[in-house]
Amino acid sequence: MANVFLHSSLLCVKRVDTHIIILPWILSEEIITQYDGMDHASADRTVSRIHQHYAWYGITAYVKIFVSFCSACQHAKHTRTAHSKYFDLEVGTVMDQVSIDVCGPFATTRDGNSVLLVAVDHFSP
Ligand SMILES: [Zn+2]
Repeated sequence: MANVFLHSSLLCVKRVDTHIIILPWILSEEIITQYDGMDHASADRTVSRIHQHYAWYGITAYVKIFVSFCSACQHAKHTRTAHSKYFDLEVGTVMDQVSIDVCGPFATTRDGNSVLLVAVDHFSP
């Protein structure tokens, strides 16, 4: 934890030639809006740009959710992709193909939970 320090009341992590700010989660949407708004390129590019200056727990998952709901990103994505990369999975039976992902963080519940584990059985219609 020697690389963590306070600078102007902000929690920071020292890097080789700079530092990044550990951002309170409540400010994350404003930062994502600013960086995504540069060009609505992709979630990965937005995360990469934000990581040059800021960090917070769950940043990648939160940016992906944000981008999935951004109409400008979705429009740009469809105009960039000449051919769809999606294809039909061949699924023979229940539990043959299962996708699992973690979404969040969301508002913390009284029990201290802030993320969702999502599992999809592709056999289901
Ligand atoms: Zn966008």
